[in-house]
Amino acid sequence: MSDTFVVVGGDAAGMSAASKAKRDDPDLEVVVFEKGEWVSYGACGLPYYVKGEIQSLEELVSVTPEEFREERDIDLRTGHEVVSIDPDERTVTAESDAGTVTESYDSLLLATGAEAVVPPIDGTNREGVYTLGSMSDGKELREYVARARDGEGLQQPDRGPACRYLEDCSGPVAVVGGGYIGIEMAEALAANGFEVNLFQRGDRLLKGFSEATSEAVADHLREQDIVLHLGSGVRELAGEEAVDAVVTDGGRVNVEMVLLGTGVRPRTDLAADAGVELGETGAIATDPYRETSVDDIYAAGDCAEAIHAVTGEPAYVPLALTANRHGRAVGQTVAGQPTTGGAIAGTAAIKAFEVEAARTGILDHEEALEAGFDPISETIDAKSRAGYYPGGGTVTITLTADRDTGRLLGASLVSEYGEGAVHRSHALVAALTEGAAVDDLENYDLAYAPPFNTTWDPVLVAAKVLS
Ligand code: FAD
Repeated sequence: MSDTFVVVGGDAAGMSAASKAKRDDPDLEVVVFEKGEWVSYGACGLPYYVKGEIQSLEELVSVTPEEFREERDIDLRTGHEVVSIDPDERTVTAESDAGTVTESYDSLLLATGAEAVVPPIDGTNREGVYTLGSMSDGKELREYVARARDGEGLQQPDRGPACRYLEDCSGPVAVVGGGYIGIEMAEALAANGFEVNLFQRGDRLLKGFSEATSEAVADHLREQDIVLHLGSGVRELAGEEAVDAVVTDGGRVNVEMVLLGTGVRPRTDLAADAGVELGETGAIATDPYRETSVDDIYAAGDCAEAIHAVTGEPAYVPLALTANRHGRAVGQTVAGQPTTGGAIAGTAAIKAFEVEAARTGILDHEEALEAGFDPISETIDAKSRAGYYPGGGTVTITLTADRDTGRLLGASLVSEYGEGAVHRSHALVAALTEGAAVDDLENYDLAYAPPFNTTWDPVLVAAKVLS
């Protein structure tokens, strides 16, 4: 009889694993339980769906349930929530509208993802308070935007300063959290005519990026009429049934809607209840092959830790490529070819209106010190294209390196949208993943032509300054 590979969670990590396992070992029985109706969807596209650049949620789906079932021969069961795992009996139990089902496994992957964090403040359960973690959240937000634009059932407030995008404007609204989801949603809401107030507890946005990047993004958001409330801890979301104000340590701002973009936490209850160990980060601990503390139970994606390429220590950075890569690696492993899927570098990118930014590695000096490095950082501004070539702008790059060895530890880049901050980060990811020193980087043979860069690309200039 063939082995059975059971997957819990039908998105990036889960479906990558299921597809790879079935492709590499067609005799394997592959069963996927997904509690929702959507599988293989790109949550990363949700802010652009709410903005209106993407017209339907279906466009965010890469492979449909029918394609998984009919073309890939995967036993995909949507609407099935796995409620328990019995590692001794090697079974999982799932509940659906049709009842309860228990399935045996030879290998099991936990790909349960992460959920949006709702901060412990009063008023988060009021009407008009949203998070954006799932497809249904995206649908609700888009419906809210449509209702507000049609003026249905909403107050018609004074037209705020961001109302230059549309003739018919709504607002004000609040975004709580200055990370990438908060900023992308600030853009999505502003583009729909809302006056957007963005509240950030710390004194800068995008705290995982360099200060120079944070400042450039903050300046640009202000230019786009986003009202930034930095250093503003939100104490309460006030109102009767519906939210009507954000109350901070510094005062009160009237709003008609609040989007909470206050981070995510790994979904680990199922794993913990089954006796699977969690790591110090709170996500599921795994070995390099994504196997957990329980034999033949794997974990990958937003529910799991991964090894950081710079520190060599477990880290929790829930992002899409890691979920795809590590899910695929588990699929390959259970199909008979053990694969790690590699380390992570905490590489992330964001577009905010007309700027783009990227970060990778370790930039924070305290974090670098804790990891045993002696960090030093430099920031440069350089032209994005040859001076004589039309257009172009400025790329600002911060590099962090170890003072003794010169090893590149981290990088943060920002430029006008289309001027290459994000694409330039790829060379830096490669360098720090391979443990290169900044003086190695300085001699990298990067491509050059006037429409793309200067003879010495800004990456080389930054390396030169630090070496
Ligand atoms: P998920 O996508 O969370 O999928 C987990 C699945 O498991 C869910 O479908 C859930 O319903 C299911 N599930 C959970 N528990 C059970 C259970 N008990 N039984 C059955 N099913 C269960 N990443 C980037 O790299 N770049 C971006 O620009 C980016 N933008 C983002 C924007 C938004 C708004 C959001 C929300 C996320 C964004 N991400 C981005 C993160 C990216 O979407 C995630 O890293 C990725 O989806 C993780 O995939 P996953 O399979 O691990 O988990």
